[in-house]
Amino acid sequence: SSLNLQELNEFDGSQEQKQALKELGKEFEITTEKLRSIVKQFTFEMQKGLERHGAKVAMIPSFVTGKPTGMESGTYLAIDLGGTNLRVCKVDLLGNGKVEIQQQKYIVPEAMKTGEMRQLCDFIADSVDMFLTEIDTDSYSEALQLGFTFSFPVNLRTINRGNLMQWTKGYCCTGAIGKDPGLMLQDSFRRKNMKVNVAAIVNDTVGTLMAHAYRDPTTFMGIIFGTGTNAAYFEKMDNITKWEDDITSEEMVVNMEWGAFDEERRVLPMTIYDNRLDRESINPGTHIYEKMISGMYLGEIVRNMTLGLVDRQLLFDGKSSPEMNKKWSFETSHMSAIEIDTSSDLADTQYVLETVLGIPSTTLMDREMVKTLCRLVGIRAARLSAAGVAAVMTHCNLLPQDACTAAVDGSVFEFYPHFSHNMMKALKELFGEEVEQKIKFSQSHDGSGLGAAVIAMQVSKGN
Ligand code: BGC
Ligand code: MG
Repeated sequence: SSLNLQELNEFDGSQEQKQALKELGKEFEITTEKLRSIVKQFTFEMQKGLERHGAKVAMIPSFVTGKPTGMESGTYLAIDLGGTNLRVCKVDLLGNGKVEIQQQKYIVPEAMKTGEMRQLCDFIADSVDMFLTEIDTDSYSEALQLGFTFSFPVNLRTINRGNLMQWTKGYCCTGAIGKDPGLMLQDSFRRKNMKVNVAAIVNDTVGTLMAHAYRDPTTFMGIIFGTGTNAAYFEKMDNITKWEDDITSEEMVVNMEWGAFDEERRVLPMTIYDNRLDRESINPGTHIYEKMISGMYLGEIVRNMTLGLVDRQLLFDGKSSPEMNKKWSFETSHMSAIEIDTSSDLADTQYVLETVLGIPSTTLMDREMVKTLCRLVGIRAARLSAAGVAAVMTHCNLLPQDACTAAVDGSVFEFYPHFSHNMMKALKELFGEEVEQKIKFSQSHDGSGLGAAVIAMQVSKGN
């Protein structure tokens, strides 16, 4: 189910090296049975989140109710904050499922991610201002409606008002937790005399879901497997029992915030490498599921494992390097490069280890060992991801005859070798081979552009 133990037996390192890899193989293995117990706990926590406020898996109502029809029209702004860049878009919905998007990316300086929230909002407003200057400013005579994709847990009170619950993914601005990111951004626009209205605060998963649903009505779920991870899906209003206001619609998109799954550590098989990463993160003790799955963290887990083997003199002749000892230096993209390296001398792996990470010299055996570590972490991530998907499928009681599409965005899904294959493999173990006919994963890029714009449109048209 995980890494083939046979492969480890054929590995011709020393007895100690073999033994060490075997032990790691066991620690990182997620058996089918383990998967089942994780899915069970997952559906239980989803239920809890729908019933009451303040549950770990927060199950936040998004205030997005209608499915888009593809006939929507108008011009909207959309911005996306939460990954590596700030993205600013102008989206022209042309009806008939047609759209035109103009966009620009702005690098968010590292210091901005940990500075004052007010400054970050000013930076966003300045970027939007620059963008509007670059594109035609004619359309700027009346207030532009903006969908704000803010990819952090926000407890919404309305479609454009809510409180930031916590930071994730390395952001930790001051003066933000418990505050309203929509209002703070609106204030920055106001201070700069910009006629831009924050019409909606949109989680990236919700945007991804809506962007895909705009073209494909079988879309039931939006997922991010990127720097962080999370999912949103259409839920029946009746099932959101914690909902207290009146509402006429039958369904609403729920932002699960599934990264916080199992913070009580009942079922997730955390290793010492995970615990170390968690302890050293900006949000220790929280979002541990996300930390076992997403791009911000996978490389760091491998780095911890690698150094563990170095300390036992089982790797690199017991030597490391200053770079290798720097937190976060082993990036998930390095893992991808190593996993797709099939050359007989593992030359790309050698490049990553020696040139990028400064290990003085490596043997083929060293490179094979590191490659194995990457595979262990990558396979585990895909299988744990499948558990989340399986939980939503189970919860929604999808019938075999339903054709369902999950819209997926994020670097791990897009670039990590074999990720979606390994995820589907785990789903087959849970639901049987037929599951492949039932659920389709569809790469969706334009969640924070098209998705956020569609939502801003729904709000401003009073849907
Ligand atoms: C955040 C979510 C977001 C996810 C993917 C997580 O860290 O809590 O709100 O959807 O990352 O970007
Ligand atoms: Mg993103």
